[in-house]
Parts: sequence; structure tokens; C-alpha cells
Amino acid sequence: MKTRPLYLDYAATTPLDPAVLNAMLPYFGTLLSPLQPTPSSLQPIFGNPGSLHSFGQQASAAVFAAREEIAQALRCHYSEIIFTAGATEANNLALRGAVKKFLTSNVQLPKGEKPRIIISSIEHESVMATAKDLEKEGVEVVRIPVSREGIVNLKMLKEALNAHTVLVSVMYANNEVGTIQPIAEIAKMIRELRSSLAVNPQSSIAGYPLFHTDAVQAFQYLPCDVQALGVDLLTLSAHKVYGPKGIGCLYTRLSVSNLEPKTYNLQPVLTGGGQEFGLRSGTENVPAIVGFARAISLAAERRTREATRVEKLRNQLWRDLKNIFPKVQLNGGIQKRLPNNLNVYLPGISGERLLVSLDLQGIAVSSGSACTARSIDPSHVIVALSGDSVRAKNSIRITLGKMTTVQDMKRLLRVLRQVKEGLD
Ligand code: PMP
Repeated sequence: MKTRPLYLDYAATTPLDPAVLNAMLPYFGTLLSPLQPTPSSLQPIFGNPGSLHSFGQQASAAVFAAREEIAQALRCHYSEIIFTAGATEANNLALRGAVKKFLTSNVQLPKGEKPRIIISSIEHESVMATAKDLEKEGVEVVRIPVSREGIVNLKMLKEALNAHTVLVSVMYANNEVGTIQPIAEIAKMIRELRSSLAVNPQSSIAGYPLFHTDAVQAFQYLPCDVQALGVDLLTLSAHKVYGPKGIGCLYTRLSVSNLEPKTYNLQPVLTGGGQEFGLRSGTENVPAIVGFARAISLAAERRTREATRVEKLRNQLWRDLKNIFPKVQLNGGIQKRLPNNLNVYLPGISGERLLVSLDLQGIAVSSGSACTARSIDPSHVIVALSGDSVRAKNSIRITLGKMTTVQDMKRLLRVLRQVKEGLD
């Protein structure tokens, strides 16, 4: 008998919520047979939101409503939401767009000084690799280490801030180990620097450094009020919150003074027809945008309940794992951690081998992040918090989600016990 597949890799992606799919369906605009009259309630909405006719207006209204819905969930103005094709693009826009704007704003850097960006050493590849690329283009990149608990070193971050820092990017919650960074505290530090620089306008550019956070993994479980967080830029992705793949957004702060006419702190990376307030050209992916908004509202609505539920399951799993594998160690601290994440080091057991053994039993976990699974390098995140590449190779990530039950946890433990007996 074929076993039912058990998915425990919700940090890699999540399935589509049926309510999200239902919201999206009319916007796929399927071609209908001219011979079959369709009731007006089922008329597909397929217009280009940029078109002036009624087809376009319907699509544009749907995009506007979705933008408003996401803005409400983040507590910002609708024109601060820039839709992108996922978080990778949003992170690229944040970093590249900020540097571009800085370099074209008549900045006079002291001789020999480069514009600086500061990132944590455990950022997602879309930030790490973008920073590396910018480094080749003459930007100075400072990477701030994290503690064994997986929390960024605030003292070093403060020391790295200087008058020509364009942007600081620190993720809200990590995708591999789930550790949660003190975003509001970092925002306060940056605001203090800004006001001290403003005292001496010769040495600085107003409004910099900008503060960006990648909240892709955080949104499902943590409050994401951009006013309370104090960030200037924030990245989201739909497919981590039971929405469709290939859609995300960048929140980009406008001060009251630059709302009309809108002046953004970014320059576009994708140029063309000027969609998304000129910051991201390309015809809007209407069904995906509609689904994204629905997924965001549902996630915000169910956040507290779901966080409590999965945390209970996760904590019990951690206790049980320690019984099966007495030498098991957690990667990152347990306190400031997403409630659905368990990333563990199993001394002497290859993470990849364990992953394959579990997969043969129909259970999907991860040995790192899905984005780096193709790489043979050890996870940069586990190396950053432990300094140990062997540990990185002998670790697995289990992430729980909406479909995870007590029975699933029991099954995982049963299979892990069998696998362990096979290894002993
Ligand atoms: N940032 C984080 C923290 C992520 O977990 C991911 C997805 N693995 C991304 C960015 C990239 O998201 P997307 O797949 O939407 O490009």
C-alpha cells in the first residue's frame, strides 16, 4: 500500500489555500466559446490593467483592491506597495534600487569612500548574492555576524553604520533556522543615526540609511505593522503564506511630504511601461495579485491561532526528538524563533542521507533551504551561527504548517526511530 505523502517543508513553499484559488479563478480570463453564452457573474476578467476601456478598468480595479488589502495588513498607504514577481525580485529592487537612487542624487562622498550597505551574515541568497554583485560594482558591503542563537550582533551593526551607508538589510525571520531579529530595535538605532547626521548635513544625505527587512518567512507568524517595525522597505512573497508562486511585493515608505507627487527612495531596476508607480514595469499579473491579497488577509486573520497551534506541535516534536537522538542539538535558539521551525544537528548523521531515507517513506523535510539545495556548499546560515561546516552537512530542517497534525508528528517520529535503528 502506498503511504500518504507527508509534507514538512513549509518554509520552502506552501500549498495554495482553496479560498485563494477561488478568488483568483475569474482573473485567469479563460477563453470562452462564443457559442456558449456565459452568465455575467462568470465573465472572466482578463483585461490589461493599463487599458482604458472597461475590460482594463475591471482588471485595474482588482489590482487596486488587492493593493489596498495588502496595505491594510501592513498598515501603510496603498502607493507604498510595489508588486513584483516574488521576493527575490523585491529584494533586488530594495538593494539595487536604493543604491541607484543614492548614486544619482548628487551625493558627494568623501574622497576614497564608497557607498556602504550592511547586511546580516544569514540573509537569504537573494540578498546575499545581490550584495555580492553590488560589491563588484563598487559598493562596500559589511556583513554582520550572528550569535550561536542566530541573532545579529547589534553592537557590530551599530559600529558599521556610517554617514555614507545607503541601506541596512536584516531579515525579520530566517528561512533555515527561523530565528527572529530585533527589527524595531535596529530601526530605532538607524533613526538615531539619521537624526545625528541631520545635525551635520554636510556629511550625510537626508533619509539615509534606509532600513530593509525581508519578512517573507515572518508574515505567517509575526505582527508585520510597518509603523511599529519602523522599517523603510519590507519584502513579502505569496507562496510562503498559502498563496501563488511568482508574486510578491516590496513595501517602500513614503513620508507624508513625498506622497504627492510621490517620490520614492528607490530607482527602478526593471524599466518599461512605468507600471507600479514607475518602480516596476511589466503588465501586472492580475490573478496572482488577487490571490496574494487574499492569502495575506487570511494569514493575518489566522496568525495568532495558527502560531499557537504549530508551536505546541513543534515543542512536543523537539522533546520527542531528544529522546530518540540523545545527542541532537538545535541550530539557533528556541526562544526567538518562528513557531513552526525545527532545524537540528544530528552528530554523525548526514542530513542529506536522512532526507532521502525519509523521502522514501513519503516524508518531505529539508537539509537546508530549497534555494541552495542544488549547491554542494554547506548552508551559509548554519556556518554563520556555528562556524562548523560539518554541522551544516549533518542538519535537517523540519517546518510545520496548516496541514500538520499530531498524527503526522507521531508518524515522523516512528519513521525516524526506524531510520535510526538502520543507522545504529
Ligand atoms: N527571502 C526568504 C527569507 C525566503 O525564504 C525566500 C524563499 N525561499 C525568498 C526570499 C525568495 O522568495 P521567492 O521565491 O518569492 O523569490
